[in-house]
Amino acid sequence: MSLPDFKLLRPRSLDEALGYLEKHGGSIRVLGGGTDLIPSMRQKLFEPEYVLVLRGVDALRGIKPTSDGGMEIGALTTLHEIERSEFLHRHYPVLTEAAATVASPVLRNMGTLGGNICLDTRCLWYNQSLTWRKGCGFCIKKDGDLCHVAPGGTKCWAAFSGDTPPALLCLKAEIEIASATGVRRIALRDFYTGLGDGYRRLGAGELVTRVFLPASSADLTGVYRKLRIRGSIDYPLAGVAVVMKRSNGHVAEARIGITAVNPAPLLVNGASELLAGRVIDESAAEAAGDLAARTAKPLTTSALTPEYRREMIRVFTKRAILAAVAT
Ligand SMILES: Cc1cc2nc3c(=O)[nH]c(=O)nc-3n(C[C@H](O)[C@H](O)[C@H](O)COP(=O)(O)OP(=O)(O)OC[C@H]3O[C@@H](n4cnc5c(N)ncnc54)[C@H](O)[C@@H]3O)c2cc1C
Ligand code: SF4
Repeated sequence: MSLPDFKLLRPRSLDEALGYLEKHGGSIRVLGGGTDLIPSMRQKLFEPEYVLVLRGVDALRGIKPTSDGGMEIGALTTLHEIERSEFLHRHYPVLTEAAATVASPVLRNMGTLGGNICLDTRCLWYNQSLTWRKGCGFCIKKDGDLCHVAPGGTKCWAAFSGDTPPALLCLKAEIEIASATGVRRIALRDFYTGLGDGYRRLGAGELVTRVFLPASSADLTGVYRKLRIRGSIDYPLAGVAVVMKRSNGHVAEARIGITAVNPAPLLVNGASELLAGRVIDESAAEAAGDLAARTAKPLTTSALTPEYRREMIRVFTKRAILAAVAT
């Protein structure tokens, strides 16, 4: 599958990148590592007039402490750098564990944290070649007006399938979004709309520039569990991140994040209240699994059945909770 024609923009500074975004707006696609964008362009899911390559913008790289005791990670930092960061491994282990499960080592060398956060939602009926989609009939997410997954509906249910966002949600991460007219900082949980199409709140002239991890989330025990078909290289079909803090054996704080079973990565509401003050045993872990499974709303957007994926959210949550107290 060939790439569509496009013009390459290669800024050397953030200001230059934002200038291009201001000038060409909706005709641009941003390229971090390109590990998702390039295959999608080959499938003609995106046919932008311009591709803005961030590689030359050094200001977007790196993992640094912030003055308030937290950490900031540049959007262009690779998943390999995150996976290998001793500091993150020690203080924010759920993030390094989730990053280490993305795709394969080669793709993690190229793939960036910004690209993982901004990853397009996925569906069996969408992530296909143009010929395939034309043959089956286009759908709401691109070029059509019906949904093969929920026929008769008017919504797209494509699943958000990135691995690091559920971990980042558990860590209460915030992201910085920059444009030529200014900078805004929002909680990551407010970035996602919950829609399969139009899945993120990002204007045409905007770029995700940095990710912030608060000091208050440092040193929480963290575990990430993921269902995929090929262990060596595959998107999640269900994923669960858990962070926990205990005091005298009792849970002081706990959060559960899930991915690949809804159009957005989600925090499981009520998880902290359910577990706070408890000593973790099989029944507490099972109750957390039940709660997470109720939050998951998988549909037939990927290779395994929705029932199995929801069940695996229950099982992985239970296992992750038990693993969190065993570490
Ligand atoms: C075979 C295969 C297996 C994969 N398996 C997994 C997996 O297991 N888990 C997983 O999470 N991902 C997986 N991926 C997807 C991808 O490799 C990762 O999500 C990666 O982190 C994407 O980062 P990137 O920098 O390459 O993004 P890109 O491809 O460069 O961009 C992805 C999207 O984000 C946008 N974007 C990128 N950076 C920014 C920014 N700073 N601001 C605004 N928008 C931006 C792009 O315009 C594009 O829409 C897989 C990909 C392949 C090809
Ligand atoms: S969920 Fe429906 S509208 Fe969305 S990509 Fe799949 S088939 Fe298309």
